[in-house]
Parts: sequence; structure tokens; C-alpha cells
Amino acid sequence: MKSLDHKFLVACSLACALLFGSAGAHAETEPARLPHEHTPRLVIGIAVDQMRPDYLYRFWNHYGDGGFRRLLDDGFLFRNAKYRHGHTATGPGHASVYTGTTPRIHGLIGNSWFVPELGRSINVVEVPDSDYTTVGGGAAAGQRRSPGNMMVTTVGDELFLFSGERSRTMSISFKDRTAILSGGHTGSAYWFDPATGNFITSTFYRDELPAWLQAFNDRQLAREFLQRTWEPARPIETYVESRPDRNPYERPLPGMFRATFPMDLAEIMRTPNRDAGVLGVTPFGDELLFELAKTVLVEEQLGRGEVPDMLMIGLSAADIIGHYFGPASKQVQDYYIRLDEYLADFLEFLDGHFEREEYLIVMTADHGAHYVPQYLHNHRIPTGHSNFHTRINEVMREQLGQHLERRFGAELLLAISAMNVFLDHERMADLRLDPAVVRNETVRFLQSLDFVSDAISVDLFEQTEFTEGVRGLMMQNYFRPRSGDVMVWMTPHTRGDLGTGFTGHGTPWTTDTHVPILFYGYDIPHGQSSAPVAPSDIASTLAVFLNSPFPSGNTGNPLNDLIYAPR
Ligand SMILES: [Zn+2]
Repeated sequence: MKSLDHKFLVACSLACALLFGSAGAHAETEPARLPHEHTPRLVIGIAVDQMRPDYLYRFWNHYGDGGFRRLLDDGFLFRNAKYRHGHTATGPGHASVYTGTTPRIHGLIGNSWFVPELGRSINVVEVPDSDYTTVGGGAAAGQRRSPGNMMVTTVGDELFLFSGERSRTMSISFKDRTAILSGGHTGSAYWFDPATGNFITSTFYRDELPAWLQAFNDRQLAREFLQRTWEPARPIETYVESRPDRNPYERPLPGMFRATFPMDLAEIMRTPNRDAGVLGVTPFGDELLFELAKTVLVEEQLGRGEVPDMLMIGLSAADIIGHYFGPASKQVQDYYIRLDEYLADFLEFLDGHFEREEYLIVMTADHGAHYVPQYLHNHRIPTGHSNFHTRINEVMREQLGQHLERRFGAELLLAISAMNVFLDHERMADLRLDPAVVRNETVRFLQSLDFVSDAISVDLFEQTEFTEGVRGLMMQNYFRPRSGDVMVWMTPHTRGDLGTGFTGHGTPWTTDTHVPILFYGYDIPHGQSSAPVAPSDIASTLAVFLNSPFPSGNTGNPLNDLIYAPR
């Protein structure tokens, strides 16, 4: 991209420094040049689903030189990055990274939410009245999938518009919502179809799979990987940073009776009702993603044009493994040891195609995770509840439903979804019940449950601006057209029935909001910062480096440690 005359800018800043006598004050910290004379040719976003920051340090001794160590030895790590919204789930997380704002603005309040008019919940990437459906899917055939529920632009969208529609954003993931939301409205997105083991897309993007993707699918790598046995990459006795493999806090893979190594995938696939989705509970699901990433880079020639391009890689197996086995497990440790190898391989691949300053990598996570509650309970750490076999959402729904019926003489509870309680407004109108009164009663009842931390009526969000604390986080998760009547959140370490395993995320507590942010390549200085930042600061940071506009709903701030740093 052409830029202003550099000499002119230098002369100008010298003159300014002399005028204001500040030349000495900033001798060691220089702002990057304005506008950037060269932008990165390629931005690569790597979102590791459910990655906690401590995985970087806990498994450090196991990492080789080419993966995480290379990124940290040369890049910049933010150690105090936390989400600014309270319902920490995959859809809201990825959208917040690339739109630079919170669910309150981008509108994605959960992975799904209840829609009273439809009488059911919708998926975050399902637009019920749209005609866009999947292309190339087996079981996923006919699913309505598009980014239409995301109410603002992403950094990739702005780059596309800014570049005269020349910049491209391509987004890949195992999960549809991850690929779709990271790709924005003007990019392309490809995700995994468990029924066929193929990567698919939606008519929102194109009517047929591109030839290179068809060829990639024809390689049938998923089928090949499903012949493998998942065993620890290194001798398991060296995995001293995680608890014993055999323990009561883990869920076996589908078709298995025990949650221990080795896991013979071919044997699992011979049990009834199995599909290629099993890959997503093993590191091989994300290995497959890196293979696809390399193919996309080569086939689409990303980063080779006159304007910058973007590649978004969403690593979903990390999340599913975390749900099944928990953050303290041998399986999670093995996943990160393998991810380190995948990263090293991918960086080496980039070395073969680009100079280091031509590409910019940003790595983060869509949310964290908490330890398995039962495990903490057995170490006498309070978990808010001790009956680990109950499904909290169901208990809450049953008890709250009964309470409201006793109190008001009618069934008023429609659903509890995305930490929102949805009440039956038609019924309340028929019975001439004041919704505010029913909401307050709902709050009072929920507050009496031992696993509930607190609940708040949305009436309060209409009247008060909560800017701090947990209520501030929950307020950033409130989007009037989609939110319910009351928002409710659990005590720390209480799993809110997210996912299918033994533990999860989704709460406003630091276990779930705290994630790493790591920048590498391009003009990124080496260093680290403990400044309080958020993943929603990433979009505007990228926009600064790309000289492009901030996303339309952006509320985050560019990470100044990267922009105004010693060079
Ligand atoms: Zn999850």
C-alpha cells in the first residue's frame, strides 16, 4: 500500500518534538510510523478454543524450540487479558475477538438462545428466515448457516471494504460457528461435517465447494486419522504436571468405557452410531485443521496480492478435549504438547513462503475453563454444590417453574437459555400480571439456590449502567432484542451445563474469562504486559497495523504496548 512520505513525517515529528521539548522523554519509546509504510501482507488469527493462559507455563518444559517457545521468545504476550462479557462461550467469544466489542453490541449472547416467537432455541449461526443452507454436507445438509445474527462488522469486513473489495478473509474450523463468525460477513468460511469427514460451507458464501477444497476432501484425511490410536506423544510418566490418567473425573470417548490412554479410534468407529466427529475429541481434529490451513494458503495465494489478506484458524478440539477430561488431565497436557508440534510445523511452513515481517500472527482463546467441580470438591475446595450428577439447568428449570406456578397460579417459565430466563409474556398479559413483579420474584427465587451466585432483572439493565464487577460483565451480555427477562449466573467452579463433558465454562469468573493474547511476526516487539486488556482489543489493534477502519461496533482499544513500544 502507498503511504505518506516517510521523510516528511520524520521531519514533522522532529519539529514537533523540538517545539514541545519532549525529544528526551520518548527517546526509548517510539510510536510506530503513521500510517504504517508497510502493513502485514497476511494476518493469521489462531483461536484455541478453551485455552487457559496457564497452559503456556505449565507445559513449558515439554515444548520444543519451534512452537510456543518461538512465539514467546520473539513475540509479545499479554498475561492479563480477560473477556468483558459474562457468558463465556464459543460464539460470543470468537465474535468479540474479531468485532472488537461485546455481545451487547454484536448481539451474539450465547451459542444458542431461546426465541419466544419460534418456541425454540436457535443456533448462533442459524438465521431462521434466511434461505442460506450448507453446501457439501451430509448430516449437516440443509442446515441454515450464515453470519446474519452478527449485527456489526469484523476487522476482516472493514479491510475488505477499505481495500476496494480486494482483501480476503478466509476462516476455517471444526465448528461451524467458529468458522462463520470469525470470517465476518464478507469473508469465506469452511467447517467440518462430522457425518462425512469433509469440510463444507454455506450458500451464503458460494454455491459449490471450491475445487481445491473438493480435492482436499478427496484425500480423506479424516478417515485416515480415524485409523489411529491416541496415545501420549511422549512417555506418560514424564507428564508430571497433570493428575493420574485413571481417575473418576473424566468422560470416556463415545463408544469407550474408560477415559484412559490408549484410545483406539478404529475400534471406537466400529461401535454403533459413530461418526467422524470423534476426531474432535482428539488432537488429530486440530492437526487436520493445520493441514487445511496450509492448503488454503497455497491454493488461495493468501498474502500474495497487493493488499493484505486474513486467515482465521479456529482450533476446536482443544475445547472438546477440555470438556471431556478437564484442565488437569493427561489428555489436555498431551493435546498442548502436540499443538506445540503442530505450531512448529506450521511456522516452518510459513518460513518457506514468507519473511517474518510479512505476516502477523495473533493467538488467543474464545474463553477459558474451570477445573472439574467434583475434582475440586474432593480437594475440599467449595464448588457451590455437591451433587455432580444433576444437570443444573434442568434442576433450575424445574424448581423455578414450580415456584412461579405456585406463586402466580400459571406456568410462566418458557426456557432458561444462554444464562437468560425467558418468561411467557402472552400469559402474563392474559393474567394481567406485571412482568416486573414476576421478574423480581424470579430473581428472589434463583438467589435462594445454593449453586446460583446471583440473578438480575433486565429492568435494572434498562435503568442503570453497570460498568464494573460481575454485573458489568453481565450487562455486556445483554442485548435487548434477544435477551430474556432475568439473567442468572452460577457460583465459581459450578458448571452451567455447557458442553457434554465433566467440566466447562460460560461463567463470568476469571477461570472462564482469562485467556492468553499473543502477537508474533510483522513489526511486533518482544515483550510481555500485565496491563488489563481484553480479546476485544485485538480487532482495533489489527486495524491500526492494517491502516484500516475499526469494526463498526468496536468498543475495545488498540493494544498500545504493541504500537508504542521500544524498537
Ligand atoms: Zn466449550
